[in-house]
Amino acid sequence: MKAYNSQQPANYATETDHDFATRDDEEMARQNPNIVITGTPGVGKTTHAEQLAQATGFKHVSVNQIVKDEGFHEGKDEETGSWIVDEDKLLDHLESLPLASTGGYILDWHACDLFPERWIDLVIVLRCDSTLLYDRLTARGYKGKKLEENMDSEIMQVLLDEARESYKEEIVVELRSESNEDVEGNLERVEQWIEQWRKDRQNAEGEE
Ligand code: ADP
Repeated sequence: MKAYNSQQPANYATETDHDFATRDDEEMARQNPNIVITGTPGVGKTTHAEQLAQATGFKHVSVNQIVKDEGFHEGKDEETGSWIVDEDKLLDHLESLPLASTGGYILDWHACDLFPERWIDLVIVLRCDSTLLYDRLTARGYKGKKLEENMDSEIMQVLLDEARESYKEEIVVELRSESNEDVEGNLERVEQWIEQWRKDRQNAEGEE
């Protein structure tokens, strides 16, 4: 149990008791990839995830919303205002979804190392210039320690490092999210990637 304040990368998640021996079967059964969209709060995760879900028909899972709605937390950290997340409950809930077997999920969260590797086919880390991010976060009412920690997190590329430590290098992609054109370009790129993923999957099935 810990507060997700983006300051403290958690490096425990890729091989847990949630990681079964069925990895290959489930991965091969998926008809669509699962995509993580991560980054410091304010970089544009929700913006990207919603539009990508609309364009692809994939399911957008806002993990923060689930934590709040389902009460998978022990309140907020007093200093930072971040939820103290009950990771076991959250993982149990995510595991109850047909995520690993069907694919087609977009997981949107400001942390990514909680998700077992076997679930995930692509990790997108959104990045944003710090002046722009400052404006977005202050517009959202962030101040004091919460604002400071999130700014530091972006400047120190905490989420990018966390993604690189938790997943294979070739599935982690860093994308800029500063303008509407960036969003458009990023979505185009991800949609092309999904097409290629499907083709590769079909070819692999044909070879079996
Ligand atoms: P997150 O989900 O990462 O916290 P949001 O998607 O909620 O971020 O975006 C935070 C704010 O920044 C929103 O007002 C959104 O419209 C704006 N924003 C995010 N990404 C971009 C972008 N690439 N171009 C313009 N505005 C953006």
